[in-house]
Amino acid sequence: MNTEELKNELFYKPKHAAVVSGEETVSRANIFAEGYKEFLNNAKTEREATAVIKAQAQRRGFVEFDPYKQYKQGEKVFFVNRDKSIILAVIGKKPLNEGVKIAAAHIDSPRLDLKPNPLYESDELALFKTHYYGGIKKYQWVAIPLALHGVIIKADGTKVDVKIGEEEGEPKFVISDILPHLGAEQGKRTLSEGIAGEELNVIVGSLPFKNDEGSELVKLNVLKLLNEKYGIKEADFLSAELEVVPAFKADDIGFDRGLVGSYGHDDRVCAYPAAMAAFDVENPEFTVLTVLTDKEETGSDGNTGLQSDYMKNFIAYLAKGNGLDVFEVLSKSECLSADVNSAYDPTFNSVFEKNNTSFLNKGVVITKYTGARGKAGTSDASAEYMGKIRRMLDEDNIIWQIGELGKVDAGGGGTVAKYIANLDVDVVDLGVPVLSMHAPYEVISKLDIYMAYRAFVKFFEQK
Ligand code: MN
Ligand code: MN
Repeated sequence: MNTEELKNELFYKPKHAAVVSGEETVSRANIFAEGYKEFLNNAKTEREATAVIKAQAQRRGFVEFDPYKQYKQGEKVFFVNRDKSIILAVIGKKPLNEGVKIAAAHIDSPRLDLKPNPLYESDELALFKTHYYGGIKKYQWVAIPLALHGVIIKADGTKVDVKIGEEEGEPKFVISDILPHLGAEQGKRTLSEGIAGEELNVIVGSLPFKNDEGSELVKLNVLKLLNEKYGIKEADFLSAELEVVPAFKADDIGFDRGLVGSYGHDDRVCAYPAAMAAFDVENPEFTVLTVLTDKEETGSDGNTGLQSDYMKNFIAYLAKGNGLDVFEVLSKSECLSADVNSAYDPTFNSVFEKNNTSFLNKGVVITKYTGARGKAGTSDASAEYMGKIRRMLDEDNIIWQIGELGKVDAGGGGTVAKYIANLDVDVVDLGVPVLSMHAPYEVISKLDIYMAYRAFVKFFEQK
């Protein structure tokens, strides 16, 4: 063996997925990305993602879960939790006390939520007050086109769906910023204070109700329009969940179209391939679950997040149907916590430690632990489980890489992994690297999402 051969044999050197896997894989990845882009454009919120995946599940023969039924091998079910999270399950050949295989991703993304009493008028402009959801850099949300999505429960209890600013010809919304000519004072603020939370006010109207004398005529006019369109009054905002999201569509990025730019890759870039894997798996040995959850971006609290018992309860019902206790199933179960990691950024490279960072186009990123400050707040996957997942991926030449979220003590972050691990399940994070994570327009690689899809399929097809 010469030096180069020995290096190839012994070194860990992740390579570009296109180089390793060739043209056919690139073209398959391109096709897969088309379906993903459509999903991104139709599912910008957790409610929309739930509805889209539910509809696709039904088209593919999944039926609504009946907790009191005993399911047989090959049956396909879905369970919707409060319209904001969904579980897909395919019943396997093996008994449940041999465990289930779980792929868990989240379908909520950072955004601006309307406050409970959002509408006001100032100097003949009507605006919405917002309270941001998840970790955002506030300055990124001004002076970009915005859309409004969500639901309103009216006084009589009826529900109205809202989606405005997405279709061609529909109005959009915007948050203003100071012009550079007058930005000297603002420029003295630190970047994180450049735009304050209470400055994230969305412009929603500018014309008065008739040219009558009186105050708040622009606000009145906006409410009149909303009343005509949705039948709502101002007090109905209290019982609403209205989310302001970027009005951008998903697009290819670069002359070679290798990347996709979009709002909400975190974590639809894992949720979509995890759902597709549940749809495409045929007669799995183990029972497989794709869990698409809500509330990850605010810490997984609440009854639609994975700190709640809803996933455990779903598995408990499955277990009960087979005369088992839920712990007998969970302790033998395995999970891929399907979430994104930060992709190395050549422009802002100082926050990364290059040997332990994921790169665009180098495949799915396996993140052994998340957390911050001495691994606090992580479940940290075991060497044994890492070994098993690595072997599984290598078996089918699924391109993978190692990732840590930035340098030690540079910051950090978490996923749902620890909440599932705390149920006595083996868990590791496996997902897709994202550039500009949590920005209104994030970037991923088509090859990486395709590798994630292949990883979830392989995970579900384990013998
Ligand atoms: Mn995430
Ligand atoms: Mn996130």
